[in-house]
Amino acid sequence: MNVLVLNAGSSSLKYQLVNLETKTVLAKGICERVGSKEASHKHGIDENEIVIDAEMADHNQAMGLVLDALVSGPNKAVDSLDEIDAVGHRVVQGGKYFDRSVLIDDYVIEKIDELAELAPLHNKAALMGIEACRAYLPGKPMVAVFDTSYFQTLAPKAYMYPIPYELYEKHAIRKYGAHGTSHRYLAERAAVMLDEPFDDLKLITCHLGNGCSISAIDHGIAVDTSMGLTPLDGLMMGTRSGAIDPAIVTFIMDHEDMSASEVNDLLNKKSGLLGISGISNDLRSVRTASEEGDERAQLAYEMYSNSVKKYIGQYIAVMGGVDAIVLSAGVGENCDKMRRLIFAGLQPLGIVLDLEKNKARGGERTISTDDSAVQILVIPTEEEYMIARDTFDIVHESLAGRDAAAALS
Ligand code: AMP
Repeated sequence: MNVLVLNAGSSSLKYQLVNLETKTVLAKGICERVGSKEASHKHGIDENEIVIDAEMADHNQAMGLVLDALVSGPNKAVDSLDEIDAVGHRVVQGGKYFDRSVLIDDYVIEKIDELAELAPLHNKAALMGIEACRAYLPGKPMVAVFDTSYFQTLAPKAYMYPIPYELYEKHAIRKYGAHGTSHRYLAERAAVMLDEPFDDLKLITCHLGNGCSISAIDHGIAVDTSMGLTPLDGLMMGTRSGAIDPAIVTFIMDHEDMSASEVNDLLNKKSGLLGISGISNDLRSVRTASEEGDERAQLAYEMYSNSVKKYIGQYIAVMGGVDAIVLSAGVGENCDKMRRLIFAGLQPLGIVLDLEKNKARGGERTISTDDSAVQILVIPTEEEYMIARDTFDIVHESLAGRDAAAALS
């Protein structure tokens, strides 16, 4: 089965065509700056990637270009659209309605739309992707895979905020988490690497990229996570502040004469590594500057690692221990210096990084010492593969159900 995985952002459309039987990526690409004059379409795998200048007024037009590139041109992946069996859509906010991935129908579309209030840019973009697929690939089964559903197992004591309860009742203000597909994958792979039943483990999974989140997974169940009502909460990130004293919001509004939406923009797009270093949201640039003696870049580095360290401590307390800590995404997978800072001083907790193993690059690996009580694992995340796998499973199930119903009738 070939599954087209779509990840629609407010001005982008990322995609992969995955063959589930062979576990291969047949094609991938991204349309960027959709809706602007500078729109571009990158299509192809690694060194075969080509950049196609193309006009894309909206996601619908971008979808047309993506499908064209899949069936024609130098990097074509299949002969016709009939070879695409199903589509898996990444949807950021599933609210309380979806605790797992689901087959998309009118009810699901209505709920994704209703939940757009909680993730305006992302859920609306996902809807545009879904509508475009309905137009170009009529009748193809489609599955929604939600970033939030993995965290529907959180108990009220973990997901409620200590603000008046009526606000939860009126506006559903609570923690939903995000990056759930990545955390689910990391936890599953960690159990395989440790050769232990998933349900016996206490895991802390750290997704450290431009967006960052960390989760506590206790005996196979997510019990806490750092992102909140929105993906702004928790760890310090590339451009996002993460958790700060909430009173800072009104303080800035008063003293800088800014509106609520301007402060929201400042905390989402101008803070984090970028805000502190004044150089970049990209950790590689911040690292270079800090090694050249830039004090603010060094401060940004130390704050980022400290932010992760503090959450690790919290989650050890929440679970009463930890068997393994998993690191993933751009920073977690690649930056040995950041990993060194995160684990410095955690030896008394039985967490001992092996400095030599920490320098190794690429693939799944263990980077703790042989006698460390807690294992430290690096696992490259595979969100697209998880979306393709969920799509495959759900479509198969529904087809089997339909066959069974036909046999009974
Ligand atoms: P992601 O959002 O997962 O693509 O991760 C992006 C982040 O990973 C950026 O801050 C990059 O600077 C960072 N990153 C990627 N490769 C490296 C590397 N070799 N060393 C340090 N940071 C890296």
